[in-house]
Amino acid sequence: MGTIVIKFGGSSLSTTDKIKQAACRIADYKKKGKEVVVVVSAMGKTTDQLLQLAGEITENPAKREMDMLLTTGEQVSISLLSMALTEMGVPAVSFTGWQAGIVTEKVHSNARIIDVKTNHIEEKLAEGKIIVAAGFQGVTEDGEITTLGRGGSDTTAVALAAAIGAERCLICTDVTGVFTSDPRYVPKARKLPSISYDEMLELANLGAGVLHPRAVEFAKNHQVSLEVRSSTENEDGTVIEEEVSMEKNLVVRGVAFEKDITRLTVFGLKNELTGLSSIFSVLAENQIDVDIIIQSQTDGNKTNLSFSIKNKDRQAAVNVLESQKETIGFENIECEAGLAKVSIVGSGMVSNPGVAAQMFQVLADENIQIKMVSTSEIKVSAVIAGDNMISAAQILHDTFNLGTVVEKEKIQ
Ligand code: ADP
Ligand code: ASP
Ligand code: MG
Repeated sequence: MGTIVIKFGGSSLSTTDKIKQAACRIADYKKKGKEVVVVVSAMGKTTDQLLQLAGEITENPAKREMDMLLTTGEQVSISLLSMALTEMGVPAVSFTGWQAGIVTEKVHSNARIIDVKTNHIEEKLAEGKIIVAAGFQGVTEDGEITTLGRGGSDTTAVALAAAIGAERCLICTDVTGVFTSDPRYVPKARKLPSISYDEMLELANLGAGVLHPRAVEFAKNHQVSLEVRSSTENEDGTVIEEEVSMEKNLVVRGVAFEKDITRLTVFGLKNELTGLSSIFSVLAENQIDVDIIIQSQTDGNKTNLSFSIKNKDRQAAVNVLESQKETIGFENIECEAGLAKVSIVGSGMVSNPGVAAQMFQVLADENIQIKMVSTSEIKVSAVIAGDNMISAAQILHDTFNLGTVVEKEKIQ
């Protein structure tokens, strides 16, 4: 009998009615003869509300206690969904991350899954039960509760699918698939029938919140067949797979964007061999993720260095660098907050020079100043003022004709 993993996101479980609706869909899969493992997020905006509660108590909560708090959200959903299934006469059992065998590294708030112990799940599946597992949470080898980062339930689902050898992992959400851009902000965005792991990974890393980046990484590494689809509609979703041959010739496949970026510039950095490594080591030791880095020569002895980080890390970055000013050897730091990053992604770019030029030209035509740039074989990103983010995304979407169905897709 084939096994499938079905994940429901928070917006698809925001009320008890929606939980009952999800239970009906799950029961349909069971009726089709599948063994079913369900992974759920916290109901609606529960995680945000829990974060707010902590904020009312302290500005600086211990990460361990935050994990303890946030994991309660998913525990509400697993028990309610399990009750809804049982009420319909479909045997189900709820599992926390720990009971589902999700073992993580010893990191709070953004842990990676290092092992999945499937014996407990397999035992209950063999009894004919549907497993309803809590997403986003895990446990360390020494019994500490951890979380996988915001949106991490997707990763739980893919990890379970890989571990039990499921035939497919369905990510059921409030959109009908992966679109050429976020349909909430780019109305002309179009659903893609399929997309490659690599393109999806870039889109997810560059801000397309429809899938957690680590879920895509996991799916690629373990060749999990992944589909993003609606939690309520019956239409086909988007399949994420190794190669999307029919659409290989498309240059740009999607536009992603991300707000709340800060550009931090370190002026007068001593031009010593260890200058760069000492700056980025200090930031890494303090878990500050750096994205784009630009170094410019001022004179023979000194350089200026700009890099982008998330707004939320700004104060911490300034504090740690200032605290080591003498050791690192720089003159001063300046920050520009409220920036955004807009990116175009597509595997066809590798063989199409001029895509970046076209992107920069069209942004210049709209008077949108580019503050930083980064490229890879399959993406070009530009950091711009936050106020320009949505219009830039819409313009780029139009420029690369992403709203138009191409012949190659029609014949699929
Ligand atoms: P869930 O609660 O089900 O995990 P999320 O809010 O995490 O749902 O993800 C779904 C949302 O992702 C959509 O509502 C949409 O606004 C956003 N999104 C961003 N980029 C894309 C994209 N390229 N395609 C589809 N949805 C996207
Ligand atoms: N509940 C968590 C969050 O809101 C995890 C998830 O939804 O995937 O980020
Ligand atoms: Mg999500």
